[in-house]
Amino acid sequence: MPDVDVVVVGAGAAGLGAAKALRAAGKTFRLVEAMDRIGGRAWTRDADLGVPFDIGCAWLHAADRNPFYPEARAANWTLYHHDMNVDHLYYGKRKASEAEQTGMKAADAALAALLESHTSHDDRLSSLLSRGHAVRASATFSGPMDFGKDDDEISIADFKAAADLDPNYFTREGFGALVAHYGRDVPVELSTPVRRIAWGGPGVAVETDRGTIRARAVLVTCAPAVLAFGEIAFTPDLPAAHDEALFDLPMGMLTKIPIEIRETRLGLAAFDDLLIERHARHDIYFLCFPFDTDLMVGFVGGDFAWELSVAGEAAGIDFVSDRLCDIFGNDLRKNIGRAMMTNWGAERYVRGAYAAARPGKVKARAILATPIAERIYFAGEHLAGPLIQTCGGARLSGEAVARDIVAALNRA
Ligand SMILES: Cc1cc2nc3c(=O)[nH]c(=O)nc-3n(C[C@H](O)[C@H](O)[C@H](O)COP(=O)(O)OP(=O)(O)OC[C@H]3O[C@@H](n4cnc5c(N)ncnc54)[C@H](O)[C@@H]3O)c2cc1C
Repeated sequence: MPDVDVVVVGAGAAGLGAAKALRAAGKTFRLVEAMDRIGGRAWTRDADLGVPFDIGCAWLHAADRNPFYPEARAANWTLYHHDMNVDHLYYGKRKASEAEQTGMKAADAALAALLESHTSHDDRLSSLLSRGHAVRASATFSGPMDFGKDDDEISIADFKAAADLDPNYFTREGFGALVAHYGRDVPVELSTPVRRIAWGGPGVAVETDRGTIRARAVLVTCAPAVLAFGEIAFTPDLPAAHDEALFDLPMGMLTKIPIEIRETRLGLAAFDDLLIERHARHDIYFLCFPFDTDLMVGFVGGDFAWELSVAGEAAGIDFVSDRLCDIFGNDLRKNIGRAMMTNWGAERYVRGAYAAARPGKVKARAILATPIAERIYFAGEHLAGPLIQTCGGARLSGEAVARDIVAALNRA
């Protein structure tokens, strides 16, 4: 006899959304989470910088379709509409001219047109890009800073399938805090990593560090990299196509390096976007002084973000301080206060920022979205259709798959 209808693995946005949908449909479930908190990659902390800071997701993307947007309004969260634009562009230490800045916007439009008309067999985004400055800057913003991957590792088909994420909003209180608020009434078993899912007999047996739970179905919402690393064993093994799909959805990387700049705004306005293009793809983007806090939030993405993870937090903070001093002068050092660097690659139960299909492997997403024997289901940001990689998309994915499970259980 099963203990419950469904075990949900992971209490990020997808798992919390799924649990609420199961509850609404009158199904019994247990939601188990490896970490000692809910939210997964949605996590706001104020201990590091004295203000709420999102270690993971921060922008409420696609607010017109994002279920967290009405949630934020209902909770009276402070919202700011952020029109993403490169307000300040630098090539190394040099400020780009007006003409260069206009050139970057033209490159954005040209890239969009090339994507639209793309028919070649080469699925790498890099195949569409020439090496010109303006094109590089445009590609940096959409590649490493957005997809978390360098352009030669991005599948054009995958990139094209992702929605335009406008309109974007920020919350002062934090997106992570919003997800925690959303999940506050969901029963979650924390610090309970799942080690094995046995599906050889009827239903499933989900083995955790705190015992085995028998259920009619299991919904797994962990990042694909967690599964590719074998954190959860499957007995019998997953079908080969699913195993391969996990391999074909590796994690991209986005690293944030916020730094306090005291007593000056450097001539920048709150929420300005500043991009520094450098050689060797060591580019860095800054979100300037959000909500008029003292923070310049540095972002690095793709291979460089993985490299900085290995070099460590001190190297990352030095890199950010040096780049700002390159531009604004060495005197700025006396204004620099607290700083930190995120490192999602070292988070055992996440292992990166978000998934991106390997070039030529966009079908991996559809394969992983196919349930196994009406017993094993997957959901999460990596299976969120046009809202892949986003927190709102993760929740919608969890809710949708939970409804599929309910329908299958009702049929059985
Ligand atoms: C630096 C960074 C910036 C981002 N910026 C944005 C942004 O601005 N806007 C946006 O919309 N999105 C952003 N994202 C992406 C967004 O955070 C994710 O898409 C979303 O939070 C993923 O939710 P999820 O439920 O799919 O996965 P997760 O949040 O990873 O949840 C999965 C859960 O499963 C748990 N788990 C893993 N293994 C096990 C196990 N063996 N047993 C039990 N539990 C397990 C994990 O601990 C985790 O809590 C960002 C992500 C990062 C890392």
